[in-house]
Amino acid sequence: MHKIRRIKYYLYRFFWVGVDFLYPPFCGGCAKKGVRWCQDCQKSIRAIPEPKCDICGLPQLKNGICLSCEKNPPFYKVLQSWVVFEGPIRKALHQMKYRQDLGLGDSLAAEMVQYANELNWHIDMVVPVPLGKKRFRERGYNQVGLFARPLALAKEWRYATNALKRARETISQVGLSADERENNVRSAFVADHKKVAGKKILVIDDVSTTGATLNSCAKALINGGASEVYALSLARALPHHGLKTV
Ligand SMILES: [Zn+2]
Ligand SMILES: [Zn+2]
Repeated sequence: MHKIRRIKYYLYRFFWVGVDFLYPPFCGGCAKKGVRWCQDCQKSIRAIPEPKCDICGLPQLKNGICLSCEKNPPFYKVLQSWVVFEGPIRKALHQMKYRQDLGLGDSLAAEMVQYANELNWHIDMVVPVPLGKKRFRERGYNQVGLFARPLALAKEWRYATNALKRARETISQVGLSADERENNVRSAFVADHKKVAGKKILVIDDVSTTGATLNSCAKALINGGASEVYALSLARALPHHGLKTV
């Protein structure tokens, strides 16, 4: 099975060499010609500032578990994010959300592989945060898949788009307070018991802020019988935490 995934990965890489040849790319962060994600944009990215909570991954004043996670432990074991949601990464994610930039997703996934290796999580299956039917119809694709699928391929993780679904439509989380975010996504997802039972699942989103969406997904997966849930977002929008994060 692993051999097949390796071959799939090489075919995928070969496909992109061909696409770059036919359609010369430009950078998703700064529009520079010649690459899909340039070295300058890559250098500008910033890891989540330490110290941060061991569970929800938000910056705080000391190591350990934050008060919020202590009071209401999330359903996921741990939530980590590759970079802070700002600058060129913000532009790149916008580009993936509103223009189906497959090549950019692939380039960002390639940059994320090392980070995913360092996390050293043992995962049986990867699921993207699903879009609602209505949003999927409007957009035609799930932007999370643009980088989550090639990341899963590179890591030889199984990628499943049908193990987790939206149970109902939700409004955008942008501009909502932490409580409003939690209410908005409460019971918004449902997992397929047959697919997730007994498995260690990694749920991936493009941007997370409080982690409410990923936690709601984790809850559905645990209720569906998953043994453990890990959560990863490409970028983290840092809320004001009484901390200067700039
Ligand atoms: Zn660039
Ligand atoms: Zn926490």
